[in-house]
Amino acid sequence: MPSSPTEKTEPWTIQRLLNWTKGHLAAKGVGEPRLATEVLLAQALGCRRIDLYARFDRVPEPGQLDVFRDLVKRAAGHTPISYLVGRKEFYSLEFEVSPAVLIPRPETELLVQQAIETVRGWDRPDCHLLDLCTGSGCIAIALLKNLPTVRALATDVSADALAIAARNAAAHGVDERLTLVEADRLVLPGDAVPAQGFDLIACNPPYVAVGEMATLDANVRDHEPHLALTDGSDGLSFYRLLAEESAALLQPEGALLLEVADGGAEAVREIFAAHPTWRHTGTWRDAVAGHERVLRYALVGAPG
Ligand code: GLN
Repeated sequence: MPSSPTEKTEPWTIQRLLNWTKGHLAAKGVGEPRLATEVLLAQALGCRRIDLYARFDRVPEPGQLDVFRDLVKRAAGHTPISYLVGRKEFYSLEFEVSPAVLIPRPETELLVQQAIETVRGWDRPDCHLLDLCTGSGCIAIALLKNLPTVRALATDVSADALAIAARNAAAHGVDERLTLVEADRLVLPGDAVPAQGFDLIACNPPYVAVGEMATLDANVRDHEPHLALTDGSDGLSFYRLLAEESAALLQPEGALLLEVADGGAEAVREIFAAHPTWRHTGTWRDAVAGHERVLRYALVGAPG
C-alpha cells in the first residue's frame, strides 16, 4: 500500500485495505475491482471472503500484507484473479487452474447443461463421453459429477493441462471414471475408444481467429494459453476437423455438442451443413450476453 501522510496514525485495517485497493484496481482497468479485492485479500489472509466482513477493523500481520501487496501488484498488471488464487468456480464446482489452462468461462456452463440434458434424455445404461481439448477438465468433470454412471475420456495436447485435469478429477472423486489422454486433435489411441463408439462428444475448441488475438482483453491475451485460445488460423479449423472425422468416433445414435465463438455459430453451421453425415439438432444462446453459444449435431439416420 502507498505511504500516505496519515499512514502512521491510521492503520491499514481490512476495511481500509478493501477501499483503497478497490479504487486502485478500478483505476488500472481491472474488471469487478471490489470482488477482485475481496478475493485477493481473503487469499492473503487465508480466510473466506465473507469472513472479511466480520473482521473489518482487524489489521493484518506484516507478512500477510506483503502477500496481499504482491497479489494486488500482479492483478493491477492484468494477471487474471483466477490464476493469482489458483482456482475458479465452474458449474458450482471449484477447479484448480494455472496459466497452463484456460480459465473456465460461465458461457461454457451451457455446454455442460445441454450435455447433461442430452444424456439424461437417453437413459442408456453404459454411456461413454469424449471431451476434446479438456484443459482444466472442467467440462468432463462437471459432467461426471452430475451423471454418476457415465465414463469419460478427455484429451488435450498439453501435458501440463492434463496434470491439472488429473488433480481436478481426483479432487472431485471422479478419477476412476475419467481417462485422460495426451492427444492432438482427433488422433486417439485405438484402445481409448469404446467398441460401439462414444455416446457423446463435447468440445470447446480454441476458436479465436489468430487475427483477433490482438483484440482480446489484456488479461486474456497476455496470460491465458494461446494454444487454448486460437487454432493459429481462422478459428474454425477444429470444427472442420470434427465435421470431417468425428462421426467415426460416435455411436450411431450419439450426439456432438460444440461451443462456438461470439458470432461464430453460423460459420460452424455452414461447415456441418456441407457434410451429409450430420443433422443439426439444436442451437442454444448463453445467459451471459445472449450469444448463440452451443450447437448440437446427430448423425443422419439416427432417430430423434
Ligand atoms: N471463450 C474464450 C474467450 O472468450 C475463448 C475460448 C476458446 O477459444 N474456446 O476468450
